[in-house]
Amino acid sequence: MTQSNVRLRQPIVVVLGHVDHGKTTLLDKIRGTTVVKKEPGEMTQEVGASFVPTSVIEKVAMPLKNLIPIKLEIPGLLFIDTPGHELFSNLRKRGGSVADIAILVVDITEGFQKQTIESIEILKEKRVPFLVAANKIDRIPGWKSIENETFSKSFKLQTTSVQKTLDNYVYKLVMQLAELGFNAERFDRVRDFTKYVAIVPVSGKTGEGLSELLALLAGLTQQYLKSRLRIVEGPAKGVILEVKEEQGLGHTIDVIIYDGILKKNDTIALGGLNGVIVTKIRNILLPAPLQDMRISKYGYKSIDEISAAAGIKISGPGLEEALAGSSIYVVENEEKLPEVKKIIEEELSKIRFSKDSVGIVVKADSLGSLESLINGFERMGIPVRVADIGPITKRDVIEAELSSKEVEEFGIIAAFRVKPLPGLEISKVKLIYNDIIYQLLEETKKYIDEIRERKKRRSLDSLILPGKIKILPGYVFRRSDPAIVGVEVLGGIIKPKFPLIREDGQRVGEILGIQDNKKNLDKATKGMEVSMSIKGNVMIGRQIQEGDVLYTDVPQDDLDMLYKVHKDSITEDMIEVIRELIKIKRVENPLYGISIQ
Ligand code: GDP
Repeated sequence: MTQSNVRLRQPIVVVLGHVDHGKTTLLDKIRGTTVVKKEPGEMTQEVGASFVPTSVIEKVAMPLKNLIPIKLEIPGLLFIDTPGHELFSNLRKRGGSVADIAILVVDITEGFQKQTIESIEILKEKRVPFLVAANKIDRIPGWKSIENETFSKSFKLQTTSVQKTLDNYVYKLVMQLAELGFNAERFDRVRDFTKYVAIVPVSGKTGEGLSELLALLAGLTQQYLKSRLRIVEGPAKGVILEVKEEQGLGHTIDVIIYDGILKKNDTIALGGLNGVIVTKIRNILLPAPLQDMRISKYGYKSIDEISAAAGIKISGPGLEEALAGSSIYVVENEEKLPEVKKIIEEELSKIRFSKDSVGIVVKADSLGSLESLINGFERMGIPVRVADIGPITKRDVIEAELSSKEVEEFGIIAAFRVKPLPGLEISKVKLIYNDIIYQLLEETKKYIDEIRERKKRRSLDSLILPGKIKILPGYVFRRSDPAIVGVEVLGGIIKPKFPLIREDGQRVGEILGIQDNKKNLDKATKGMEVSMSIKGNVMIGRQIQEGDVLYTDVPQDDLDMLYKVHKDSITEDMIEVIRELIKIKRVENPLYGISIQ
C-alpha cells in the first residue's frame, strides 16, 4: 500500500451491549491503561469522551505487529465515555451516526441478551460497523488470568479443556450472530474483515485481550473507513450530546465535533426548543488537568480552536433552549445562514411532529431519544400521532384522548425522562414512563397488546362457537321447561345462551345453563360430561330423543369472525365439528361456510 498524504482524524468509538455485561468496566480499563501509558503532556480527557493516542495503542499492541501490519496514520481513538443506547441515540447524524465504529460488549458466559440484540438492530439501522468484545473470559471455569496479557498469549497458556470451553462459547456467539444475519469468527481466524464480524475475547477486569481490541479498532477503522476519517479543514460540524447548566458558565452544551475546525467566536447554528438557535461561541472548554486547576475556572480550561474529532463543552448566550441530539454547524458567513437554518429545521420537523392520524403521543428529553423511540415504535407497528420534546402538557393529554376515542389502545403518552407539568390531570389516558428506551418501548407494546387481547376476548365471548353434544341415554332429569339432561361434549365448545340444532338442521331451543356436580360452568369442552338445561319449546321424547346428537347453531358471521380474528382459538376437534355443521347447514343455505373454505 502506498503511503498517502491524506491526514486522518481519530475514529469515534462507542460501546454498547446488555446491562451488566461489562461496558463500564471495559471503558474504565481502556482509560486506565491510557493514563498509565501516555506520554507526559498528552491530553486524553475530553468532554464526554476519552482520547487514546496512537502512541498508547502502539505500546499496548506492540506484541501484535502481525495483527496490524500497517502503520497507524490515525492520531488515536476517541471513546465516547457513556456506554449504552441512551447517549448513543444522541450521536445522530443525517442518515446515520456520528460514531465510526462500535464495540458490542457481550458477557461470554451469558451470550446475547435482549439489549445485545437491540444494540445490533440499532447499529444496523445506523450502519455503524462493530466488533464484538466477548467479555469476562477470566470467569471461564479453570481460566488462569495473566493481568494485561494479550489474548493470544494468555490463551496459549490455558489447558486444552479451558481452550475448548472458550471456543465453545465463541461458537455460540457465532451462531447467535448468524441468526441475525452476520458472518462472524474469532478475530484471529478472520480473513476478510469486511465480510466477517470479529469476536475478540477480553476481560475488562484483568485487561486480557485489550491489546487485540485496541489494535483491531485502530487497524480496521484506518483501513476501511479512510474516506470517512479524512480531515476536512472547513467549518465544524458536530452533534450535541448533552445540555447542562454549569456553575459560573450558565447553560452549556457538550458537543462531539466530527468534522472540520471549531474556533472561539465562531457563529453556530443548532436546534432549539423553539426553532433554530443562532449564537456565538463564548468559550470552547476542555477539562483542565489537575495541575491547571488553580488557573482554570470551574475545572475547565478555555481553548481557541479544536479540530475533529473531539468532545468539548461550549458556552455562549442563548443555549438554555438547546436540544440534545441536535446537529450543530458553524456558520461561515451571513450568506450561508439560511441554508444551514433550513437543514436544521428539516431535521427538527422530522423528529418533532404532530399528525392528524390516530396514534400514541411520545415525549422525550432529547432529539436522539425521541428519534430512537419513533423508530422503535415504527418497527413494532405502533403509530405515533405526536412526537415532541419537553414535559407532558395538557395538549398531549387531549391528543392522546382524541386517539383513544377512535382506537382505545392508542390513548397513551409514552414518556422518556420527562414528567407531567405540575397539577396536570391525566387520568383519562395511560401514562407510561421509563428512562430506558427499550423498556419504554416494551411496556407500551405490552399495554397495547393487553387491551387488544381484552377486546378480542370480549368479542370472542360474544361469538356463538361450534360445539357438538350427545344426550346421554338414561340421564334425563326433567323433560321440559326447562329440559334437563346429561350430555357428553363430542367436540368444540358449548356455553350458556348457545342455540342448538339437530342433525337435520331443526332448531331445538337454547342452552340455559351447564353444571358439573351442581356447580355452574360457563363452558364445557370436548370429553366433558355435564348436565345441561335447555330452554325453549322443547320436550325430551318429542323434539329431542335420548341418544340424539345436537350442534350449536353458529351464524355465518360468527363463523367468519372466528376464522378472521380468533384463528388461534380453533381446536382440532372444533374443525371436525365445523365440517359437520357446514354439511347440515348447507341443506338450507348452500353458501354456508363458503367464505372459510
Ligand atoms: P455495564 O452495565 O455493562 O456497564 O457493566 P459493568 O461494567 O457495570 O459490569 C457489571 C458487573 O460485571 C460488575 O460487577 C463488574 O465488576 C463485572 N465485570 C465486568 N467486566 C468483568 C470481567 O471482565 N470479568 C469479571 N469477572 N467481572 C466483570
